[in-house]
Amino acid sequence: IIEVKNLEKKYDSADVLKDINGVVNQGQVICVIGPSGAGKSTFLRCLNLLEKPTSGTVLFEGTDLVSLKTNELTTLRERMGMVFQSFNLFPNMTVIENLKLAPVRVKHMSDADATKKATELLERVGLAEKADVYPSSLSGGQQQRVAIARALAMDPEVMLFDEPTSALDPEMVGEVLAVMKELADEGMTMVVVTHEMGFAREVADEVWFMADGYILEKNEPNELFNNPQNDRAKDFIGKII
Ligand code: ATP
Ligand code: MG
Repeated sequence: IIEVKNLEKKYDSADVLKDINGVVNQGQVICVIGPSGAGKSTFLRCLNLLEKPTSGTVLFEGTDLVSLKTNELTTLRERMGMVFQSFNLFPNMTVIENLKLAPVRVKHMSDADATKKATELLERVGLAEKADVYPSSLSGGQQQRVAIARALAMDPEVMLFDEPTSALDPEMVGEVLAVMKELADEGMTMVVVTHEMGFAREVADEVWFMADGYILEKNEPNELFNNPQNDRAKDFIGKII
């Protein structure tokens, strides 16, 4: 569903991504791990062209996103949901208004249909009773579950997560990972930048290890964690497990 070829991203002086290649198949969960500054967030943002690659191609269902005009890109980008470390909910809207905004504005869904869909999604993330409160009255874990529901409201084909639990208090990490695991079990295609090795081990089909702008190793989680081949990967995994 996504194929990345020879992707490079340079800022003025820095080469942040160097010759990145990879394929994400329908229904797969890819976890991206690696040290701070490796380029993980930049890579994820290049997948939906929030960041414009310096060179290379990003094929989404066969279409090269890099060559698209802005309006075509906007349409394609709607098919990828994104969840960030900071939840980015609209603070001046209630939870259900947050969920309804894009379906109504962008997909021109009727108010009734958007309400129905938003209600179903809130049930799915266990927050049906929070529909009419403002984000500021929710815990971090609850806000992140709302952010996931909001992304799902657009019926994305792929979900991109950038360290969705790293801003959370430890006791709230589990509830967010549980929602993500359920999503994976339902067959959602997901690319997840994460430091949650337990999640990666349990849920990922493949783990990609990044350092210094390269993907240095790709493997199924048990192989990568138990028997890393690359020296940087060995070092990193040794420190975090
Ligand atoms: P972390 O684990 O800390 O989130 P990361 O792997 O996500 O790190 P990135 O945020 O992708 O790393 O950053 C990779 C490198 O690119 C860093 O050295 C960073 O300083 C640099 N970088 C990121 N964005 C920009 C920018 N807009 N301009 C210049 N350099 C940038
Ligand atoms: Mg990052």
